[in-house]
Amino acid sequence: MSNQNTNCPKCGGTMKSGDFRIDIPPSTSSMNPMSPMSSFGTTQIGQPATVYPYWEEKTGKKGFLGRESTAIMNIKTYRCSVCGYIEFYVKE
Ligand SMILES: [Zn+2]
Repeated sequence: MSNQNTNCPKCGGTMKSGDFRIDIPPSTSSMNPMSPMSSFGTTQIGQPATVYPYWEEKTGKKGFLGRESTAIMNIKTYRCSVCGYIEFYVKE
């Protein structure tokens, strides 16, 4: 199922799957005032951090302590190899 052929809605080209991620430069993470533990925690100064975005969706059901529970899902990304158009998919 992983190599399903998806065509670009813009130009009809072949869509290739990939990972959408954000690299945080070392200068930003080492100057974070919200993390006083960073100097001896798991984050090493001078090392870039990679963030993988995810999709959070309310399920409509009451969860722990009466709060509305949410479902966490991974984001699948497809890029057109012809025009570069990017599409996001979230599958349960
Ligand atoms: Zn395209």
